Amino acid sequence: MSLTDLEARVASDLARIAHPQMPWVLPHAGPDGASALDVLIIGAGQCGIAAAFGLIRSKIENILVIDEAPYGLEGPWLTYARMHTLRSPKEFTGPDLDIPSLTYQSWHEARFGIEHWETLGLIPKENWAEYLLWVRRMIGVTVRNETRLVGLAPAGELIAADIIERGERRTLYARKIILATGQESMGRWAMPQALRSVPADRRARACDAIDFASLKHKRVVVIGAGASAFDNAATACEAGAADVKLLCRRRELQVVQPYRWLTFRGFLRHFSELDDAWRWRFMSHIMALREGFTQATYDRCMRHKAFEILTGAGIQRAAMSGDGVVLDTECGKVEADFVIAAVGVEMDFSLRPEFNGFAHNIATWSDRYLPPPEEQDPRLGQFPYLGEDFALTERVAGATPWIGNIHVFSIASTLSFGPSGSSINAMTTMVPKLAAAIGRGLFESDIEQYWQSLLAYDVKQAIVRERTPA
Ligand SMILES: Cc1cc2nc3c(=O)[nH]c(=O)nc-3n(C[C@H](O)[C@H](O)[C@H](O)COP(=O)(O)OP(=O)(O)OC[C@H]3O[C@@H](n4cnc5c(N)ncnc54)[C@H](O)[C@@H]3O)c2cc1C
Repeated sequence: MSLTDLEARVASDLARIAHPQMPWVLPHAGPDGASALDVLIIGAGQCGIAAAFGLIRSKIENILVIDEAPYGLEGPWLTYARMHTLRSPKEFTGPDLDIPSLTYQSWHEARFGIEHWETLGLIPKENWAEYLLWVRRMIGVTVRNETRLVGLAPAGELIAADIIERGERRTLYARKIILATGQESMGRWAMPQALRSVPADRRARACDAIDFASLKHKRVVVIGAGASAFDNAATACEAGAADVKLLCRRRELQVVQPYRWLTFRGFLRHFSELDDAWRWRFMSHIMALREGFTQATYDRCMRHKAFEILTGAGIQRAAMSGDGVVLDTECGKVEADFVIAAVGVEMDFSLRPEFNGFAHNIATWSDRYLPPPEEQDPRLGQFPYLGEDFALTERVAGATPWIGNIHVFSIASTLSFGPSGSSINAMTTMVPKLAAAIGRGLFESDIEQYWQSLLAYDVKQAIVRERTPA
């Protein structure tokens, strides 16, 4: 089937499952008199697009997606994702929301042929990025690129979202906000404390733009042993670095991928319905293990003589010495010309301008739940404690009640919902849950009007006539 035929199939499939088609969300005007959006989605990465699709399927169509990145550069795939292929198996479905013609497989087969799909190992990241753009076109969602969210504030029953669109500052009004802003949605990529004194031109985080060509013949240290650490080490090796050391804090590499264990509908669908003790126990265990790397990632590094792994090498101090950086680690001194930190993200709401004025009142897990001593983990305690509708909850009830209309669908949702925002494997299960929660909020807040609408309903389905004599 050609791509054109597939696109016709998608349109036909979506038309066949469009029931019930009746528009139902009631209009609300903003303070400017113009119609407010029902939902403003921040971020047009895979989660923002999938969330939009979930809403559209629920007939919540007065929505807009914005993204600060230029068209095609949303998400990490063509910028700082330094792997060649996705880490997920090619069979994992996601943004298609269980519509067969919208799956990656259908797109790949139409684009490159069935045989090509059958012999494919993992999905090249460039193809994944192209597929996401295709899905976006197929579902017909409006995305405004180069548009950044910079502030959120209450505006009566609505939320005022301050945006900068191609240099121009404006305000959009929406009943609900979905933050699908990715890894840094509620914090930032971490830089280990010990490295903060190292000059900025000698260190970077895995998410930064790194001039790898300038690392030719240089000594590079990568801190961390997850998949991104290996990807950065491999990229440095391929750029001709003389020596690339990967420092792993643990005594042994993490080779088990806990996110594979949890990829079953029971866990994905029902994890968020567990009590806090079970949610914390599962997710703190999984997140403390961190994501394992794939065989392809490992092999990509190991084929270079310049590459070396040091385990039990937690970093204690770092300082410049002559022209190099000297790192004191648990297994001795290591010298480098450039250091890359690939140690994941840390939550810190105060770093995000859109939370100015209310970051202090966003409840965290440590505000709500005290784990037993053997399960404590201050890093994870900083994750937001979300309501059952993915919304922010308040630390002090009543101080900022409007934040209950800000819904988080990103890595920051993970402690409350398990894999949800941010994971391809969870999308087909979690996006419908998110869309249902958003729909419920919109419905409930207008319930009086729906009641009046029912009482006023007088569309006759049949005409009762006098019996006419035969
Ligand atoms: C290198 C790497 C490889 C990964 N590989 C896999 C994998 O193989 N399988 C898997 O399941 N998961 C993988 N993940 C995890 C996850 O799937 C990705 O992080 C994915 O990109 C998450 O999608 P997202 O939509 O949540 O965030 P993103 O794709 O990061 O999209 C967020 C978007 O929000 C925009 N944005 C942020 N802030 C603002 C703002 N204030 N205003 C406007 N726009 C804003 C950004 O520009 C961005 O486009 C990987 C993650 C990384 C980092």
